[in-house]
Amino acid sequence: MSLTSSDPFRRAFELRSLLNKAGHAYYVLDSPFLEDTVYDAFYRELISLEKQYPELITHDSPSKRLGGLPATGFSSSKHRIPLFSLDNAFNIKELEAWYSKVQRNLGEKPIDNNFQTDIKMIGELKIDGNALALSYSKGILIKAATRGNGSEGEEITANARTICSLPLCLQLEDPPPWLEVRGEAFIPNDEFTKTNQTRQSQGEHLFANPRNACAGTLRQLDSRVVASRHLDFFAYSLHLPDDWDHKVKDYKKPKTQWDALRWLQRAGFKVNPHNKLLENLHEAKDFFSDWETDRQTLPYATDGVVLKVNTFELQTKVGFTQKAPRWAIALKYPAEEAPSKLIKLTYQIGRTGAVTPVAEFESIALAGTRVTRASLHNADRLKSLDLHSGDTVVIRKAGEIIPEVVRVIKELRPQEAVPLSLPANCPECQSTLVKANNEAITRCLNSSCPAILRGALRHWVNKASLNIEGIGNKLIHQLVEQKLVQSIANLYELNLHNIVKLERMGPKSASKLMTSISESKNQPWHKKLYGLGINHIGETNAKVLTKNFHTIEELLDSAVNSPELITSIFGIGDEIAQALIEWSSNSNNQKLIADLKRVGVNLSASEKEIELYSIQKNQISNLLEGQTFVLTGSMNSLSRNEAKTLIEEKGGKVTSSISANTSYLIAGSKAGSKLNRANALGIKVLNEDEFKNLLFP
Ligand code: NAD
Repeated sequence: MSLTSSDPFRRAFELRSLLNKAGHAYYVLDSPFLEDTVYDAFYRELISLEKQYPELITHDSPSKRLGGLPATGFSSSKHRIPLFSLDNAFNIKELEAWYSKVQRNLGEKPIDNNFQTDIKMIGELKIDGNALALSYSKGILIKAATRGNGSEGEEITANARTICSLPLCLQLEDPPPWLEVRGEAFIPNDEFTKTNQTRQSQGEHLFANPRNACAGTLRQLDSRVVASRHLDFFAYSLHLPDDWDHKVKDYKKPKTQWDALRWLQRAGFKVNPHNKLLENLHEAKDFFSDWETDRQTLPYATDGVVLKVNTFELQTKVGFTQKAPRWAIALKYPAEEAPSKLIKLTYQIGRTGAVTPVAEFESIALAGTRVTRASLHNADRLKSLDLHSGDTVVIRKAGEIIPEVVRVIKELRPQEAVPLSLPANCPECQSTLVKANNEAITRCLNSSCPAILRGALRHWVNKASLNIEGIGNKLIHQLVEQKLVQSIANLYELNLHNIVKLERMGPKSASKLMTSISESKNQPWHKKLYGLGINHIGETNAKVLTKNFHTIEELLDSAVNSPELITSIFGIGDEIAQALIEWSSNSNNQKLIADLKRVGVNLSASEKEIELYSIQKNQISNLLEGQTFVLTGSMNSLSRNEAKTLIEEKGGKVTSSISANTSYLIAGSKAGSKLNRANALGIKVLNEDEFKNLLFP
């Protein structure tokens, strides 16, 4: 990311102020205002600036701080052994660099640029909670403290004692005189959800994430509140007196991290069951990638994996930096949120004339891909974001989901910034843009606007519609620009002579295109209806409607004269009848129907299709026999009860909880924990559209 302003001095100052303010909100107030990944991105930018210009390093730089600041409200406690942070790697390349450095630190000499010796590591999940330092004296827990600044933290023993998985006394005869254990306290996902629900109902501010909730809980002055949140704890490191050892073999002083984890387990600590002994770098990479998706099924949050050199002797050889051990690295999963700088706002005009503002920003890596633009949907969203020129914005892209602008970081707004809004005129045809009172969308109403026509053509030739091969965006641009096509119907009046003259069109591709256009006339009726691009008529609704109305005239006539015939069809609501009425009242659309008929595109079902519909109707009654469904979340077009009736009418069964016998989970929006459980059990999950496709094949 290159958010760096041209003046590195000013940028470093800007970043330091923001990061220090964010650190205070995060560590002291338990109320972060930056996402962790966004904080990390700015932190890395500052580090790289400081590396490039060491003269910019100041005593108040967050890079000089070992950890958080001790908060007030608890007495501070000095750690017997400092709690270090971890260095981070954000991709495999950085992991490889860390591994080579460890090899070099162990005195390896590269041969042909490669080191020869494999180093065994322990792969551990990076639990997204808060480090705790536990002190035991003669086997009894005497103190628990947060990490704080690494050398002193807050003493929170009473609160730690409420964590049931944390042993108050060790299961060990003849325990060492003292023992220091480090591990991660965390709040399980379901407790996090419950806590936030309670806080919402009481009008309190919500915790931003499980880590923040855990920190806030550990700092509660009333340990009954802590107990009610059911925190948990995984132990991951062990420190024993130098001159102590146990006579029993199982409790001998461990010499490796792997043995230390087993030791902790035997002494009564909960150790994460997914830790793994890794023989080499290759296995470390596999461990990281295996957990990238599997971690979603865990009942607690993780944000990466931690790799640690296994043998303590080698750890000592490799040593520490000022802030972190050199023998360990936290390898984080690709960020789903990151900051970027807005370059400009552009506008897209769709086939319905809807104007969509699009934010174009400096290229950033997000959830494994590079992104440069995100839709802002409509004028209201633009306004609520309060976007200004030159703003730094937070972009989110979770997994496969399209990127979105989450918010603006106002602290980094340039002085000369001006507010951004939609233009008054269509950027394509200059006609005045209109926003109906009850609509969020601003539209260009000029039906001959080239952008609208291009959109309509794109939709018509699309695979799900008439599937006309050989017409891409560039060709559509030419056809519209050269006025060869002024409506969808004109596509069927093109001839070889005028197509062949277009850019990058040879005689062969031109004749192929002609065939494809002509063959599209035989596409099924539902594809043609979908291709018309009527509001609310997506692929599924088009299928349902065409089974009941076999011609466009029949369908539009019902919408106008007997809309109850339409709305009585399951899953089809008033808005669809309304959209059909609006569409048919437009004279351009009436002309389109006539023109399509004239050029041989029948907007009706063929005899064969009608025959098929009636066969399907007879088969459909026991379509879902023997299948069990669970419903979660809410659907737009069906209530829970309607969906249940439909499933039962077709022979299926609806149950309330997921089990290995569940055939499908139907997940609407805001799906709950059932979705996680279904994913964990490998149960097929259907969204609303897929569910409707199953009901109306
Ligand atoms: P870190 O979270 O990157 O990694 C170190 C921590 O990992 C350890 O302290 C430990 O608590 C934890 N951990 C989890 N599993 C572990 C395991 N198996 N072995 C060892 N350690 C394990 O670094 P940090 O220094 O604790 O905190 C810095 C982080 O705090 C940054 O990543 C940043 O995102 C966040 N932060 C956020 C803001 C904000 O405004 N959002 C502000 C300041 C800091």
